[in-house]
Amino acid sequence: MSPPIASHRVLPTLNQDGTRRWIRPRLYPGKTWRARRVVAWLLMVAFVALPWLELRGKPLILLDVVRREFTLFGTTFLATDGVLLMLLLLAIFVGVVLVTALVGRAWCGWACPQTVYLEFLYRPIERLFEGKREQQMELDKKGPNLRRYLKNGVFLLISVLLGNAFLAYFVGSKALVHWMTSSPSEHPQAFLAMAAVSALTFFDFAYFREQMCTVACPYARLQSVLLDPRSLIVGYDARRGEPRAKGKPRPGVGDCIDCNACVAACPTGIDIRHGLQLECVACAQCADACDSIMDKIKKPLGLIRYDAQQSLETGGQGRVLRPRVLIYTGILLALLIALVLVAATRGSAELTVLRGIGAPFELRDGLAQNQIRIKVQNRSRETQRYRIDLLDAADARLVAPENPLEVTAGAQRSTSVFVMVAPNRLSHGQRPVRFRITDQSGARVEAPYRLLGPEGGQP
Ligand code: SF4
Ligand code: SF4
Repeated sequence: MSPPIASHRVLPTLNQDGTRRWIRPRLYPGKTWRARRVVAWLLMVAFVALPWLELRGKPLILLDVVRREFTLFGTTFLATDGVLLMLLLLAIFVGVVLVTALVGRAWCGWACPQTVYLEFLYRPIERLFEGKREQQMELDKKGPNLRRYLKNGVFLLISVLLGNAFLAYFVGSKALVHWMTSSPSEHPQAFLAMAAVSALTFFDFAYFREQMCTVACPYARLQSVLLDPRSLIVGYDARRGEPRAKGKPRPGVGDCIDCNACVAACPTGIDIRHGLQLECVACAQCADACDSIMDKIKKPLGLIRYDAQQSLETGGQGRVLRPRVLIYTGILLALLIALVLVAATRGSAELTVLRGIGAPFELRDGLAQNQIRIKVQNRSRETQRYRIDLLDAADARLVAPENPLEVTAGAQRSTSVFVMVAPNRLSHGQRPVRFRITDQSGARVEAPYRLLGPEGGQP
């Protein structure tokens, strides 16, 4: 039985019968494409290099999800830096909203790793093995063949490298080098993670491709609320192009000669002449294609161009500074100022006090003994010796095997301490106290804790 055929418009990456429609864009190396290529090469170097570079002895970027430590440009944020992280995430969110309101999906077309790697690394390799658009489409009809196998072999190799480069953001360059230079049997879980990320990278760039932008990425879905008629988009000037007519330009018709070059160039398979669509990643490959046609037929360039929807429709100039842009800018500035202030007033150490493993307390010699884990994160740039004190409990005894506790710059250490207290000094089996650490400069950090003992105050 033949599959049902859709009678309405389907995704550009599908055929009407639901099978995959492979997009084989024709390359028009116009001025925008050449500028994007320069940006893309710089970004590719940056994407790979960032986790390997250090600032003040720390990685430029390390998102250690397992230990819940996030290092950005030499500053480490802990999970306990809730306010800072919240301000940072809000600033990033408002920044994205502001940039989108101003320049539309410029991020997608110019800087997103998906576009950068696909258009300027994988596709050039594909053209090297399989030739231009028409030759690639021929190969699609023929099915599996040697050239495609060889291309996929190279894709796999690159995907392993890129997958590992991506992993470095989360595990750090040192761990990655160790994993790569030692036997998988020494770290089977890490090896599995490396293999999975490499396989996903290969799947994405060899098979899934533009569907990441058109189906999976949530940013495209937000377009309709983030853009306004004055945002910069890639658009078709219908006032100039219509009524379109095939053949040579002639009086009474628009400048569009319906050559379909813009459609053939589009890496997401859409026709920009139908207006702004969710699938458009603002790469302007259609604009380069159309410019090359306009050049041939001796018409002004820019029938498809970066412009505001409002300008395309009216021919006027769009205002860049408008209320929503000013409001977003104000919010972003306020968030950035708050972020700097909170970061500047953040203590040079982080103190976490946790209950020890096992029973909450033990009774020894008539005293309730609490075992407590003291965790100290040294945020300063020097090794520090932290003196540990127990406050609000002069009648309790603190026993700390390592006091002061030495912690190297930027590192974190834990130590176990014991607090002995008479049960009759507790109220209903509890007593709030505070722990304090003091470094050599006298800077102090405190954290609350609750001592426990038998209920009723009797051993
Ligand atoms: S319509 Fe033009 S700008 Fe949009 S994705 Fe296609 S080629 Fe790129
Ligand atoms: S490339 Fe230009 S002239 Fe050709 S169909 Fe597209 S808009 Fe019309």
